[in-house]
Amino acid sequence: KLKVGVLALQGAFIEHIHILQRFPQVSLAIPIRTADQLSSVDALIIPGGESTTIALVAERSGLLEPLREFVESKPTWGTCAGMILLANEATQTKQGGQKLLGGLDITVTRNKFGTQAPLHINHVTTKSGNDDVFPAVFIRAPIISRINSLDVEVLARLEHTIGDTDASAIVAVRQGHLFATAFHPELTNDDRIHQYFVSLALESLRKRCRIIQQQI
Ligand code: GLN
Repeated sequence: KLKVGVLALQGAFIEHIHILQRFPQVSLAIPIRTADQLSSVDALIIPGGESTTIALVAERSGLLEPLREFVESKPTWGTCAGMILLANEATQTKQGGQKLLGGLDITVTRNKFGTQAPLHINHVTTKSGNDDVFPAVFIRAPIISRINSLDVEVLARLEHTIGDTDASAIVAVRQGHLFATAFHPELTNDDRIHQYFVSLALESLRKRCRIIQQQI
């Protein structure tokens, strides 16, 4: 069974916790505010919110380094601001002010939908085997502007154009144990993306166990 933490420094964390509590494979879903709490979970969600603020609060509470270590090896999903924090590179950030955790070999552009109304519902096509269409909520969302490694798998694209962002823009990716979505699945009544993350987390934990056993 899986213990999942949701980073709770700022932003939309409680919604994730409520959804996770419905899954039989999840034994615990807790908000994370300290390094001790972080070390007690197997997987992490970094929620949407404001990535500069989340990074600042993490730094002040001594969580930046523990978070960087965590995302190096353990399953982590970043939604929106969380996706920015997981990116190795972000553009349109305050000069020198934006700390990232990194891990995903992608470049994101912040606030891509910022000149539009604050909320967009679009459809994204997800590659879960049968091209499912998922209703996606975007709130001043970043977009994945570049993929910088062959290890990054594109999982979802926009179905329709938003402002100057073309349909087929990349809005979800996976690289090994890291997963990121530009949209907010915790704000829709559809838990397929959470289901996907729970399966990804269980799968990468099983792999980790096998590797550790082989080393012993
Ligand atoms: N615009 C926010 C940022 O740059 C992200 C918005 C969100 O998480 N909904 O951090």
